This record gives sequence, C-alpha cells and structure tokens, in this order.
Amino acid sequence: MEIYLEENFDLAHTGEVCERIEAVAAECGVTIDSLNLDRGTTGLTKLEVKARETHRIPIDRIENLPYVARVARLLPPWRQISRKYDPAPREIHIFGESRIGAGHFLWTVGPCAVEEENLYYEIIDAIMGVKFPSEAQMHVAFRGFIDKNRTSVYSWEGICAAGIPWVRAMRAKYNVAVANEVMQISDIERYQGVFDILQVGTRSAEFARLFDALGKTDFTVYLKNGRGNTIDEFLNYAERIVAGGNEKVVLVVRGTQTTNPKYLRNAAALEWGPVLRGLTRQPIVFDCSHSVGQRELVVDAMMAAVASGYDGLESDVHAAPGRAKVDGRQALLPEVFEAMAHFVVEARLAYLERHRLFEERGYMHTFMNP
Ligand code: PEP
Ligand code: MN
Repeated sequence: MEIYLEENFDLAHTGEVCERIEAVAAECGVTIDSLNLDRGTTGLTKLEVKARETHRIPIDRIENLPYVARVARLLPPWRQISRKYDPAPREIHIFGESRIGAGHFLWTVGPCAVEEENLYYEIIDAIMGVKFPSEAQMHVAFRGFIDKNRTSVYSWEGICAAGIPWVRAMRAKYNVAVANEVMQISDIERYQGVFDILQVGTRSAEFARLFDALGKTDFTVYLKNGRGNTIDEFLNYAERIVAGGNEKVVLVVRGTQTTNPKYLRNAAALEWGPVLRGLTRQPIVFDCSHSVGQRELVVDAMMAAVASGYDGLESDVHAAPGRAKVDGRQALLPEVFEAMAHFVVEARLAYLERHRLFEERGYMHTFMNP
C-alpha cells in the first residue's frame, strides 16, 4: 500500500501520521512491518506501507486521516487470482481427461438439462465421437445438469436425483468431468463423488456465502458472471472462493443484460475474455449458448470466442431440440457440433500461433508501451 500525503506536508507531523496509520491497521488486525517515507520529486511525500495483509485495511479509513491525500494499492482486492500476484496462468486438472488453463482448452458440452436416458446417451456418445488433434490440447467435459435453476415457479426444475445413474455411467465410460449447477449450500455434500464441476449460474452470481462454502471444497467451480455485474465484482466473487482455499475456479462469461432482447437473449460480452485474461490467472470460458440464446448465432459467437483466446467453451447440444424441456432454441444438433468441431480446432490453433508470435516479437509489450 502506498499513502500519498498532502502537498507541502510538514515532516514534523510524520510521527503522528505513522501512529494513526498503525492504529487503524491494528483495529483491522494487521501488524505493519515497516513504514518508509519517500520525499520524491513531485512535491508529494509518499509513505510505503509494508505488511503481509494490507488488503484488510479499508482505503477510506486511511484516506480520512489528517494529512493524507490519496492511497494506492499495489494489488487489486482480488489479489490471489490477479496476474500481478502471479502471472503464470492457472492449470486445473478436473477429472480424468478433463483439464483447463495454461494451454489446455476445455469444451463443456451436453444438453441444457439431463432429460431422458436414451437421449442423454445419444448426445454424449456423439460428442465423444469427435477426435481432437493432440497439438490443440483440447479436452471435453459433460453438462450433466440434473438440477435446473428456473425463474418461474411453474417451470420444470430438472430430473433431480433420478438422473444420477446416467451421469455416473457416462462419467465412468468416458473418464471425463461432469458438471451440474449448485444452488444451495446444503446440496454440495450430495454432489460429492457424482459431479466434478459445480456451476454457479447467473441467478446465484452474488451468493457470497455459497462461494465461501465452495472455497472449502475440492470441486472445480464454474463461476458465471451476473447479468448486471461489473468485471471487478465478478473477480471479487472468484477471489472469495480461492481465498477460502479452493484454487479451482473457472470464470464463465455468459453475457450481460442486452438492450436488444428482441434479437438476443443477452449481450454476448465477448470482450470480457481478453480483458479478464490481462487481469487474472484463472481460466476463462465462454458460454456460447446462454449468451446469445439462439442456435443460428451460437456458432458465430463460438468461433469469435475461440479465436480471441478463451480457454474453453460451454455449449448446449441436444439430439431432439424440438422436444427439449428447456433451452431447445439454443441447442446445436450433434451433427452440427461434429461439423463445427473442425472449425473450432482451426480457430484454436490460429489463436495459439498468434499468441506464440506475439510472445516471440514482444507485440504485447509494444501495445502497452508504444
Ligand atoms: C446453464 O448453464 O444451464 C444456465 C442456466 O446458465 P446461466 O446461469 O448462465 O443462465
Ligand atoms: Mn440452459
């Protein structure tokens, strides 16, 4: 933390300022290791605060002290997931063949909801028929959503526990991770050993206590952005899970409220991916189905996301979208998924090649420092 003192600050007050800062820190349970005065050349005097936990000291408490002009943090409040804390991208091994981050791309595919047994097997078998070239480092995970978070109380809420045997069978057969949505803390225990990924949907995107509970587990958490959240809010919620002890957090961009509901379910917010990549080391996935919400737009959104460097996709695929109980409108047929997989691989390889070139020639550095 850096504390800038008022212009023409009289050094005679240094002891008093330091004592007040130490008192505020102590109230917040923080012991200050050192306070160094730097007179600088700008006319502003700076106090550099060294302590292990300066993030526990609210900025306004310090800014309200006499002689203090401004406070700057060296790390954002979502410090542990920030690239300033550690620039290395986080790799998450989820289960079996499913991994994401640090070069690994994960495509989470399946119906919006598990419905009928045969239909589920048909969809998953088709998905697993697609083979990816090894240099693309692409893997899959299944959507095995047995619990659905619905807005209307009259809507179908999922097959619930009856779908567990089918999900288990597919997980064992293909050795890949399976995802379900988690809506309440008391459900976490019963998902143990059945699911590998617990998704926090957009309707629960601000459920801080749920994130604290997920931080105490070993599940991979797919955290979706809330429809009206800022990027900083999104990152603060992700930090909550990591700070609780669970580093396996994947940020899932699923679009924000749109000004064009006539044409789009949500505004895709594709640009969040590159922005987030500059800020955090956690893997970033784009949900190309729940963002745009219409089959004919899904493929374009998917291609744009992969080409811009997302670490993964989430896609609804359904063998009979016309009779889907939920979100049939945005589901791709398995045959379309199979045909599109080839283009997704090409887009991924193009991104990897571009990324390699950027690194080799230091283009990112010249963007930042022209
Ligand atoms: C989902 O992925 O099934 C879902 C409900 O998504 P969202 O929470 O983003 O609407
Ligand atoms: Mn859905």
